[in-house]
Amino acid sequence: MQQEQVMLQKVQHYLKEANVSAPGMDQQLIDDAAERLKTVMNSAFNETRSTKFRLSMSSAGKPTCQLLMKRDGAPEESPGAAFRMKMLIGDITELVLGAVIQAAGINVTDSNLKVKIDSDGIKMSGELDLIIDDESVWDVKSCSRWAFDNKWKAKDDVFEAGDDFGYLEQLYGYSEASEKRPGGWFVVNKETGELLIRAAKQDKETMQRYLGNISDNLFKVIDPSTKFERSFTDEEETFRKKPTGNRKLGFACSFCNFKYSCWDGLTYRRSIPSAAKSPKMEYYTHINPESITQYESPVSEGKGKGTPKASSEKGKGASPTT
Ligand code: SF4
Repeated sequence: MQQEQVMLQKVQHYLKEANVSAPGMDQQLIDDAAERLKTVMNSAFNETRSTKFRLSMSSAGKPTCQLLMKRDGAPEESPGAAFRMKMLIGDITELVLGAVIQAAGINVTDSNLKVKIDSDGIKMSGELDLIIDDESVWDVKSCSRWAFDNKWKAKDDVFEAGDDFGYLEQLYGYSEASEKRPGGWFVVNKETGELLIRAAKQDKETMQRYLGNISDNLFKVIDPSTKFERSFTDEEETFRKKPTGNRKLGFACSFCNFKYSCWDGLTYRRSIPSAAKSPKMEYYTHINPESITQYESPVSEGKGKGTPKASSEKGKGASPTT
């Protein structure tokens, strides 16, 4: 059986035991988790958030265009109250899972370790989550149901469809900095509590690719002559395989806090061709007026129900999973 399956079984067995008995958790683990919680809460409520641009290992793999926007001080969407709570829920979930992993008998030899990477003379720091058996680096991630099903669970190759949050660069960066092999990710679905463990690819080519991405981003961002350029285009909207004439943002741009700085005239509104009662919301970069007549129900519009509420309100619905 593969290492990740053995570990997952151990964690699941421990949690099942906790439903019916007391599997035991060392007091030191509980105290350490409580200390981490203090750090999380102090950082959330007592520390002033720096607006200064700083590249870290958790951001080094993000799309270059987002890093350049940040570097150049472009206006950023201000997250709402729900965003702060969501981030806190993610942090708390991750620190509890970190303690559970250790209590379940997995040989965690180091945790929450601060590391530095030196990429051709440029230094960058980060904090890795776990080292197991003193030989591999693991990250603990909490995520939404959507990300769990569509990103972490659905693909054989984690994030083969795109890693817009830079999780791969982060893990390979920690691996390089700690001189341990890349292990993978413990992932928990914040909505359902489901768990999975994904192993990172170990081949040299993959490692070099992601470490190369870190270097590329670093050099582009520290070079003042690098001008902002979008890394993504908008997408054609189709309905029943036919183009509607509208264009909308793709996944990465929809979650980007700079989308209103990046796309002039962006409109956030219900999906135009959708007939659903609760249609999903979209960020439109271009709306073909004929598509409104063609796809939206005049009856609904007349009654005021289901009437599209065109809006360019900033920040709605835009938040990455933790
Ligand atoms: S909106 Fe898209 S293209 Fe623009 S900075 Fe964000 S991710 Fe890049």
